[in-house]
Amino acid sequence: MNRSAVWHPFTQHALEPPMTRIRLTEGAYLIDTEGNRILDAISSWWVITHGHRHPVIMEAIGKAIETYDQIIFAEFSHEPAETLAEGLIEVAPAGLKHVFYSDSGSTAVEVAIKMALGYFHNQGELRDRIVVMEASYHGDTIGTMSAGERGVFNAAYQPLLFGVDRLAFPAAVNAQRTLDLFEDVCRSGRVAALLIEPLVLGAGGMKSYDAGVLSGLKEIAERYGSLFIADEVMTGWGRTGTMFACEQATITPDILCTSKGLTGGAVPLAATLCTSDIFDAHLSTDRRKTFFHSSSYTANPIACASAVANLDIWRSEPVLERIKNLEALQRQNLRRFADDERFANIRQAGTIAALDLVVPSKGYLAEVGPKMRRLFRERGLLIRPLGNVVYLMPPYCVTADDLGRAYDAIDEVASIVLETR
Ligand SMILES: *Cc1c(COP(=O)(O)O)cnc(C)c1O
Repeated sequence: MNRSAVWHPFTQHALEPPMTRIRLTEGAYLIDTEGNRILDAISSWWVITHGHRHPVIMEAIGKAIETYDQIIFAEFSHEPAETLAEGLIEVAPAGLKHVFYSDSGSTAVEVAIKMALGYFHNQGELRDRIVVMEASYHGDTIGTMSAGERGVFNAAYQPLLFGVDRLAFPAAVNAQRTLDLFEDVCRSGRVAALLIEPLVLGAGGMKSYDAGVLSGLKEIAERYGSLFIADEVMTGWGRTGTMFACEQATITPDILCTSKGLTGGAVPLAATLCTSDIFDAHLSTDRRKTFFHSSSYTANPIACASAVANLDIWRSEPVLERIKNLEALQRQNLRRFADDERFANIRQAGTIAALDLVVPSKGYLAEVGPKMRRLFRERGLLIRPLGNVVYLMPPYCVTADDLGRAYDAIDEVASIVLETR
């Protein structure tokens, strides 16, 4: 049995072969110590947007380390953090005016929940309920697990998780029901915030829904005085076809969380953006109304410089055009499975394509993901199905040939898996 000194995430060490050691990253590829080139078709867990080691980002990091390491971010500030905040406010949905830094998607969401609770607490209003959508994922801390879908992956921590209200996923036929449910919960007057992944629920199985639902939910939240938190940790930075998914519903959330693509995926950083109302509710000569949150590495200057470089790339390179091209490529490639009975729910949201492998039984479901993963790896591809959901979320630099190869592999792997059951 592999008793690895390094304990890897989401890894059952008793069932996995030793980890492949990567020596070099390059564009859409990971290159291992033996020189094998592995196509990173899931952007290294969704963080790499433009491609691995984009030169503008690497150069910015090189420059930042000449003058900075970590700087305490209370009492002090620095240019990369200030420039980044201005840049984020400029590109985010209009009306978001303040930027709070942390270091991961989970902490960005924790910060958002605390901002929402603090907003009402500081105004002496009793609102303590968080509403979420079924099948959502917001991170792996106790707070974000509480908000996310419950299952085998958080069963052990169940006793510590707080209760939230859950809305049914708005599948095409029951979208109105989701809105009605939300309005019902809001009537209690206790809802502090709706916390939601806009347009696509990522880890919950790449489930996508209509922009109309999003604007409908926002309208209800506004009408009942509840806050609207958009968890754009996965959807941000172009994944769904626009820089932020909220743009497609033409809404401005009260709070927006971003992380994964914020630095182009080069280094960890997160930001929680909010409106003036939320900032102002914490602005007081009464110290008890301070926003009590910090992490040691808040606004790391090297990470901020990397994110500033990412913004420069968005400004100076045709990123949205690349995204449109990738969208078109995904659409073309998906077509080949349109009448294929091995697959169901073929779907796309911007650059993200997903399809469900039709599996014979539920019990079979548990093994099908790891099995497909191994078969993809044998073909030089990093693809990690979520159960029977196969998805591709490549970096925007992926070529038509590479993407075609990924679809050929999906075709082949599906047949192998279904035949050897
Ligand atoms: C990945 C993810 C998170 C958590 O981000 P980490 O950086 O892994 O903590 C939160 N929300 C969404 C929607 C995500 O996809």
